[in-house]
Amino acid sequence: MMDDLRDLYQEVILDHGKSPRNFRHPEDCNRMAEGDNPLCGDQLTVYLKMDRGGLVEDVAFEGRGCAISMASASMMTEMVQGRNEADARALFEKFHKLVTGDDADVNGEDDEDLDKLIVLSGVREFPMRVKCATLAWHTMTAAMDGDETVTTE
Ligand code: ZN
Repeated sequence: MMDDLRDLYQEVILDHGKSPRNFRHPEDCNRMAEGDNPLCGDQLTVYLKMDRGGLVEDVAFEGRGCAISMASASMMTEMVQGRNEADARALFEKFHKLVTGDDADVNGEDDEDLDKLIVLSGVREFPMRVKCATLAWHTMTAAMDGDETVTTE
């Protein structure tokens, strides 16, 4: 990866980490789950407000952790808002492939979602960091599943 590109990614992560979007507890949420990544000390709660048809009307989070976990949670809330459940899960699948490097296909794809999430792709070189980056996403799907706690252990 080119150094200036890496710097740009770093800047986006730091910005989201410093001022996370949707960092709040919506009073009318109807699903929630807590995520715990003991290896790094990241802990967060994801709140969802879903309608009967499975549309995510609102998504927010609270918690504390490293810049990667906070930035990823912040980006997750921005991207999942207004999607239906199946779409949100599919997005996590894509993101998971991006950060684990399991699927080389995602690299060349012209995909608006991945264009945003690619700033976090650097974690694939650091397996411990993959857990930080995916924590909020695991927690989001756990909330959809009705599980109230999820841990990376
Ligand atoms: Zn972390």
